[in-house]
Amino acid sequence: MALEEYKRKRDFSKTPEPAGKVAAKKAREAFFCVQKHLASHLHYDFRLEYDGVLLSWAVPKGPSLDPKTKRLAMKVEDHPVEYGEFEGVIPEGYGAGIVMLWDRGTWTPQADDVGAALKKGDLKFTLNGYKLKGSWVLVRTGGRYPGGSGDRSWLLIKHRDEWAGDLDITEFAPHSVKSGGDFEDILAADNPAVWVTNRPAKGGDAGAMLAQIIERAAKLKAGRAVEQVADKPTRAAAKRKAPTAPKRDKKK
Ligand code: MN
Repeated sequence: MALEEYKRKRDFSKTPEPAGKVAAKKAREAFFCVQKHLASHLHYDFRLEYDGVLLSWAVPKGPSLDPKTKRLAMKVEDHPVEYGEFEGVIPEGYGAGIVMLWDRGTWTPQADDVGAALKKGDLKFTLNGYKLKGSWVLVRTGGRYPGGSGDRSWLLIKHRDEWAGDLDITEFAPHSVKSGGDFEDILAADNPAVWVTNRPAKGGDAGAMLAQIIERAAKLKAGRAVEQVADKPTRAAAKRKAPTAPKRDKKK
């Protein structure tokens, strides 16, 4: 069954990720998302809702808006549809780390038969997200690509249209479309019991990056505590506490 691999890899008594049910088929716009995932390696999980699950590819470098830049996309196990809105911390175990909802929206296949397109290894589609839009293709390489392996290796490529360009979208718009925050904001917003006691994968570049992010998150939390203690019902404080727009990625 479609979610068996997803479930096999996870202990749902230890992870805040949703357990996942195969959603009933219903006629509506199909969901897509990209989750920026700081695990043993930083990567972007590209997910398309299809047939009650999220088809998933791990894209190490993230999507590129430049049609000349083909991005390796490793096919990974299907995920439950409700996982697509998930942003938070995954405790120790498979995929341990921090998940940021980097983009979301709807997708439309450019072929009538998505199943046949997937089988053929050539799926063309249109995205309507916050960051990713226009026409794209996922094409299976048959293992003929450096860094890829076997038939899990695909390429994610932008088609030339008005949404293509040489803007580095992962650099330009690095933050969450859900919270507006970066990894440390997601950590700092969480219950400390989750992220202090469940250390993600250690070692390597991502491990060092994660250590820095945990430190910055702790400072963010400490800063908020000081601010609360110092707060007095003065005009200046009221002014300072006026609602501000969440941190947002710059738009083109
Ligand atoms: Mn991942």
